[in-house]
Amino acid sequence: MSLVCGIGERMVEELYLNINPLQTGGRTPADTRKAIFSWVDGYAVCDACKGSLRTTDKPPIRQFIEDVSAFLGMDNALLTNGAREAKETVIHSLASRDDWMVADGNAHYSTLVAAERNGVPVIRTETSGHPTFEITPAMFDEAIERGTKEHGRPPVLAVVTHVDGNYGNVVDAKSIASVCHDHGVPVLLNAAYSAGRMPVSGRELGVDFIACSAHKSWAIGGGNAGLLAVNEEYRDRIIRFSKEYPVKPIEILGCSTRGSEVVALISSFPHVKERVKHWEREVAHARSVVSRLLDAGGFSLLGMSPKEHDIIAIETPAYDEIASHHKKRGYFLAKELKSRGIVGIKPGRTKHFKFSTFGFTDEQVDYIVESFLEIKDKYM
Ligand SMILES: *Cc1c(COP(=O)(O)O)cnc(C)c1O
Repeated sequence: MSLVCGIGERMVEELYLNINPLQTGGRTPADTRKAIFSWVDGYAVCDACKGSLRTTDKPPIRQFIEDVSAFLGMDNALLTNGAREAKETVIHSLASRDDWMVADGNAHYSTLVAAERNGVPVIRTETSGHPTFEITPAMFDEAIERGTKEHGRPPVLAVVTHVDGNYGNVVDAKSIASVCHDHGVPVLLNAAYSAGRMPVSGRELGVDFIACSAHKSWAIGGGNAGLLAVNEEYRDRIIRFSKEYPVKPIEILGCSTRGSEVVALISSFPHVKERVKHWEREVAHARSVVSRLLDAGGFSLLGMSPKEHDIIAIETPAYDEIASHHKKRGYFLAKELKSRGIVGIKPGRTKHFKFSTFGFTDEQVDYIVESFLEIKDKYM
């Protein structure tokens, strides 16, 4: 392995089955890797700039924004640096003094930090708690009413986590959006773990904004990128242009993500459009893994059942029992997995952990479950 400035080569996706949920949807296809390579120099995407990244035709960014808006069932979109920047853009555009917002009890920290940056208090819904951690439309209703009493006005925005990163629960976004709209509250769907993996249509779900994470769920490397898709009704409140520089959207300071990740996003898009059509296979994989682990005993599921997503969170008393008398303690599990060519679980964890089967073949999924079971049987 060559070392430059102490930085080794990273050989993870090439050598292992990586089951870290954070990374399975951002694995970059070979063609995209090649495309990135020739666009890595600073501002390379600005060779044919016409004043704003979103109007660039070489590479075809303008066309991409149109296509991706349609793909998400929305009317327009902004390229952002990630899902968090997309959320922050909406909060910043809509909220003024004394406003507050509502979010679900499984919300990602970046939702809360984005609100905090804007001085906007957040009221969170409850969840059903251990073990399913479900979020229901009625919980949004309750939180909106509770917050409205407390603040003397309805929330300026509802941020709904479509799929949370801890349990992989898929919420009933359509019903939640309808409850929020009944209170006159616009809805931002945080689709960091959904759009790009599974079909998501803002029009079908009836949401006003969709925040996407491209490095998480759109098969891109080469940097950070996200998307903020907006519907017609809110377009002009979000995509506002500078008075002095009328081609520059204010919320993204003119141009946001402006490196090889934009090229990656465009070149992975055909792959993403194709893969969302096979979402049922991903769900079937997750369900088969869960049923085989539960049948074996010593494992239980966190989050809702049946699985509707590739993130699988399990409690693993079987491994915890092994850790209590293994000389490597909790580290035995990551080591045993690695020796079988599997990485992506936090080393040392044996009480519960999460993993993802996204993008693996039937054989690879079988191999992952068999490895989990074999490690248990080896010591018990
Ligand atoms: C990963 C994640 C984010 C953050 O995405 P970025 O694109 O890195 O900002 C936000 N929300 C949820 C639910 C996530 O899982």
